[in-house]
Amino acid sequence: MSKALEQVLQQEVDKRRTFAIISHPDAGKTTLTEKLLLFGGAIRLAGSVKARKASKHATSDWMEIEKQRGISVTSSVMQFDYSGHRVNILDTPGHQDFSEDTYRTLTAADSAVMLIDVAKGVEAQTIKLFQVCAKRGIPIFTFINKLDREGRNPFELMEEIEQVLGIRSVPMNWPIGMGRELSGVYDRMKNQVELFQGDDHSTIQVKKVEDYRDPVIREMAGEYLHEQLCQDLELLDVAGDPFDLEKVRRGELTPVFFGSAVNNFGVQTFLENFLQLAPKPEPRRSTAGLVEPTNEKFSGYVFKIQANMNPAHRDRIAFLRIVSGKFERGMSVKHVRAGKEIKLSQPQQFLAQDRDIVSEAYPGDIIGLFDPGIFRIGDSLSQGSEIVFDELPTFSPEIFAKVTVKNALKHKQYQKGIDQLTEEGTIQVFTTVSFEDTLLGVVGQLQFEVFEYRMKGEYGVDVQLQRMPFQFARWIVADNIDPSKFRINSTLVKDKKGNYVALFENEYAMRTAMEKNPDAKFLETAP
Ligand code: GDP
Repeated sequence: MSKALEQVLQQEVDKRRTFAIISHPDAGKTTLTEKLLLFGGAIRLAGSVKARKASKHATSDWMEIEKQRGISVTSSVMQFDYSGHRVNILDTPGHQDFSEDTYRTLTAADSAVMLIDVAKGVEAQTIKLFQVCAKRGIPIFTFINKLDREGRNPFELMEEIEQVLGIRSVPMNWPIGMGRELSGVYDRMKNQVELFQGDDHSTIQVKKVEDYRDPVIREMAGEYLHEQLCQDLELLDVAGDPFDLEKVRRGELTPVFFGSAVNNFGVQTFLENFLQLAPKPEPRRSTAGLVEPTNEKFSGYVFKIQANMNPAHRDRIAFLRIVSGKFERGMSVKHVRAGKEIKLSQPQQFLAQDRDIVSEAYPGDIIGLFDPGIFRIGDSLSQGSEIVFDELPTFSPEIFAKVTVKNALKHKQYQKGIDQLTEEGTIQVFTTVSFEDTLLGVVGQLQFEVFEYRMKGEYGVDVQLQRMPFQFARWIVADNIDPSKFRINSTLVKDKKGNYVALFENEYAMRTAMEKNPDAKFLETAP
């Protein structure tokens, strides 16, 4: 490889940080994202930060369903520069707009920021998203937010993180007071106090000290708060985990930062520490072995396909995570599954209203590719050799509905729609063993709405969805599968590859089936 290209690649890779923020709705993700973007002066906003709040974004041209509900259906990407780093934030939609896309987006991140509300602790959606990250073993950084409100004891929160999520934590800073008493934080790594002044905590005074016992802190924060701080930190020194970058990198230890996003307190310190500690784009596994980001040949994979962001264009956009090499507009690459060369002439990033054309990009970056229907989720693109990246994980659906077509004459379009939308990963489809009924499985209710909307809009088919009472899906692997053993509060179906899947109404039904079928394996996702 040319020396010059090698150097450029190394530099570009070294400065990149690609991460996702995982949290439960209302923890402050939008607020934190906005503050982070402000520090960097965002280069490219992919709409979602604002698009979620409908009133602020009346002119957006997202699909109709997004406008109606004021949410962003699909996750997108934001990019900014900060102190020599190029930062990519992957948005992970939550709440009603939670879907498999949310999970898949996490596969494109090199690390995650877990945002926790100090009063609420670890919440349901955080747990789900955390588990997807933990499975990949990516580093997770924790930001405990809303310190300006009365919240839970920090030790209690650390305990909860360990109990519920199974990860040890190491506080990088520690609050001095909380809620109305909040005066600042003590930075344990730099041995400095950061004090806020004024009602909105906006003025920040930073002072280096010997250690937390330094009497200067007493003068600044008062005797009572200093006493409390000393007690807490002595306990942490003795009983807490020491900071260990290797453990952080392996996802075994999460560095914890305290702050308040809305007051912009602790956000900059967090960003600076995060950029230092978070990994740059890592090698990815493929059929050709590990692919190094600095490999001069361009490669990447599609982790998300988004349809009809703009109703004026009936195209789709495939989101590609670059794994290696340099992307240049107009370059030819191999579409490995399709077995053909394609030209990447219309790569785009998204602004809320305009499409911004990217002319070059590097490992860790996400580009949107114009897709006339040639891409599937998980597709690999590469220059030169045929690299196929590890398959993207599938996720166990938790909500199910029986689907029927209202007008039987439309059956052909209906089938085509189901096939294509399954391929895109909009829904998972199952067929009942007994009556060949079609069931759809999703992880978020919104996927059903998108399915109905697109069946009508793109295939002209009115469908009827009838919710089924199932909550769990398990792929059954056994020599002999007896459907009669899956009848009580459960049913046996097949996925599109013909694998047997049992659906259960509750955990009790699932446990009963496991007991009745001791030789069978019950897998959360397809084998
Ligand atoms: P998201 O649903 O996670 O994106 O949460 P938002 O960023 O929309 O925030 C939810 C609510 O919490 C909003 O009313 C925010 O103003 C508020 N909020 C965010 N950060 C803080 C904080 O640090 N302190 C307080 N008191 N409120 C906050």
